[in-house]
Amino acid sequence: MTNIQKAFSPDSFREQAHQMVDLLADYLSTSQNRESQTIPFKSPEESLAFWQDDFAEGVNEDPTDFFKKVIEKSTKLHNPRYMGHQVGVIAPISATTSMLTSLLNNGMAVYEMGLVSNPLEKIVTDLMAKRIGFDEKSGGILTSGGTLANLTALLAARAKKASTDVWEEGSEGKLAVIVSEEAHYCVDRAARIMGMGSEGIIKIPTNEAFQMRTELLEKYYQDAVDKGFQVIAIVGSSCSTSTGSYDDLVEIGKFSQAKNLWFHVDGAHGGAVIFSEKYKHKVKGIELADSVVIDWHKMLLTPALVTALIFKDNDDSYHTFQQKAQYLWANQTSQDWFNSGKRTFECTKLGMSVKVYSILKTYGEELLAEHVDYLYDLGKQFAEMIEAHPSFELGVNPECNIVCFRLKDSQNIDNQTIRQKLLNNGKFYIVQTTLRERTYLRVSLMNPLTTLEDLRELLEDIYNL
Ligand SMILES: *Cc1c(COP(=O)(O)O)cnc(C)c1O
Repeated sequence: MTNIQKAFSPDSFREQAHQMVDLLADYLSTSQNRESQTIPFKSPEESLAFWQDDFAEGVNEDPTDFFKKVIEKSTKLHNPRYMGHQVGVIAPISATTSMLTSLLNNGMAVYEMGLVSNPLEKIVTDLMAKRIGFDEKSGGILTSGGTLANLTALLAARAKKASTDVWEEGSEGKLAVIVSEEAHYCVDRAARIMGMGSEGIIKIPTNEAFQMRTELLEKYYQDAVDKGFQVIAIVGSSCSTSTGSYDDLVEIGKFSQAKNLWFHVDGAHGGAVIFSEKYKHKVKGIELADSVVIDWHKMLLTPALVTALIFKDNDDSYHTFQQKAQYLWANQTSQDWFNSGKRTFECTKLGMSVKVYSILKTYGEELLAEHVDYLYDLGKQFAEMIEAHPSFELGVNPECNIVCFRLKDSQNIDNQTIRQKLLNNGKFYIVQTTLRERTYLRVSLMNPLTTLEDLRELLEDIYNL
């Protein structure tokens, strides 16, 4: 057999994939039973050396050994003691579907290359628009990550609100966007990519709950106008990354209407509450937005990357990019939802809608609500536990499943050391953040199998370090 014949043999695929599924099922049951370390932390140099040795060993036609090593050396998000970054603990069905979409590799940019994924993308984004509270003029796209989706939204904002046609003529004038100082760094990055410079990102201070102080909007807006800026957009965070704080979207929405600004909601993490009866009040006013970003790969059980960008007026989504590409589509100005590349940064794009659809089709929207409700409730309960403990204090009363806390200064170990010791031990994976110039331990409760008992044990482990 030639190498090509070997690589494309259906029989080897069957064998390799079966082996992998067995290993993954074992991984799931071991991690879910808390039997393995959550994070097998090694220094970057050690990790690199390990894989360099592995590579130096040369070709091995049986990939099982490689699969095993990858599982062994990876961070186990499915372990209920995983509570680190805001990366989703995925529903296994969406991983199974990932294998399907990867092998089919339908590239999506044009309809013929996404015969399934383009219609499914419309169904998924239409459903989200409805849950946001938009009417039938709305629509949206899926794209690769909140970072890219926020940039895409700001490009749509610029196309609609800038007084000059920047797309055709390049930048003149000074454009600006308003955000809270707690907004995710990618908004700052997007504005800089768009040529606004550091002064073009107007950061509104936050209150003691780390929410945008909307009463300052008028003043900051006027200052920018006086300095010669044209403010095109305002971004609300639902929620902020560090503390999980939700901005007041009703106030921001009113302000943006009064000043004719584009109102964008960055709901990468916390926009998932649109699926929850219990918590959707957190994004009251979201229906006033012109665009909304929600990540499926954070709170919505889907493997990275899948992000929805939903527009109140679907027309706007067709003005973001105005490129001619005759080899892809005959008519640039027609608004065909099924040629997804017209409205996305990506040309070739993963068939990401299929992964989302598989969750909705197999378990229904209720699974999403259950997931969000459980983790948000758990955040609240954990906060109560911290408050009741004499040695710990909260950074801020949590609004969601992100909780920042610290061991009080009277103890003889600092919080940075605690976090490093936990990392080296590997039983729990948590992260840290800085609030008001002090180090806090930070958990994002992403795993639906994490219990209050796990959290009690976390506090105990920290206390006994
Ligand atoms: C995670 C996050 C982002 C970045 O999204 P990615 O999908 O990681 O690119 C942006 N904004 C907020 C509020 C986030 O929580």
